[in-house]
Amino acid sequence: MQSRVALVTGGTGGIGTSIIKRLAGMGHRVATNYRDDAKGKAWQEKMKAEGIDVAMAKGDVTSAEQAEAMVREIESQLGPIEILVNNAGITRDTTFHKMAVDQWNDVICTNLNSVYNVTRPVIEGMRGRKWGRIIQISSINGLKGQYGQANYAAAKAGMHGFTISLARENARLGITVNTVSPGYVATDMVMAVPEEVRAKIAADIPTGRLGEPDEIAYAVGFLVDDQAAWITGSNLDINGGHHMGW
Ligand code: NDP
Repeated sequence: MQSRVALVTGGTGGIGTSIIKRLAGMGHRVATNYRDDAKGKAWQEKMKAEGIDVAMAKGDVTSAEQAEAMVREIESQLGPIEILVNNAGITRDTTFHKMAVDQWNDVICTNLNSVYNVTRPVIEGMRGRKWGRIIQISSINGLKGQYGQANYAAAKAGMHGFTISLARENARLGITVNTVSPGYVATDMVMAVPEEVRAKIAADIPTGRLGEPDEIAYAVGFLVDDQAAWITGSNLDINGGHHMGW
């Protein structure tokens, strides 16, 4: 497979770092965003120590202006973006009857509006070049819902509607658009959940354990391959059997 330019949003996080490593390992030129200068630089140096050069641009994906500037900055460093993984995300859990408007808006803006903000400046170039791979990192809870996550489940479910519409609009232009929906993966996001709750979650998963970030990254690597050209508008569930069927 030819070396491509890949932007992974939220690449400094648990799943994002694994995706960056996987794509770099496949020979792609990788990039991500950061928000905090010191944190971004420290992460970039850590990657460099592992032999991975990551192009970085400052940007908050909840802002259309910052997302566009970030895309242009990455393109000036590496060239046109050919692979986009919309991975940045947050949770602000609480039951809906207690949910403040900020908890709703922060989660919708970060997980869903970001997909518009980052994909919009990338899509026309992909259409012009007639090749592209766009992947949304959704969630098991966008499919089955979750107690205390009306905001998150709504945002993640919205990614599926976006994916299948964009897939239709661009299928004849060599662009595939897919969603990967992880179950519970051992990253900071899930390790923030109290240990006894995590133990209950793990016990509920048929494989008996949480997922590893590399197991999500593997799926992203599969979907970006040239040979995955006929996989579009799909959702790939990766959850140890925690949620099966439709
Ligand atoms: P992490 O919390 O480890 O990483 C989240 C990343 O997103 C960080 O790099 C963070 O950057 C970035 N980010 C958050 N908000 C913004 C923003 N406004 N602008 C730019 N970047 C931002 O999360 P995970 O790796 O666990 O999750 C990655 C994705 O996978 C998310 O979309 C999540 O919803 C999804 N997912 C995770 C699951 C899990 O079990 N872990 C399960 C299902 C889905 P910063 O350091 O600046 O905060």
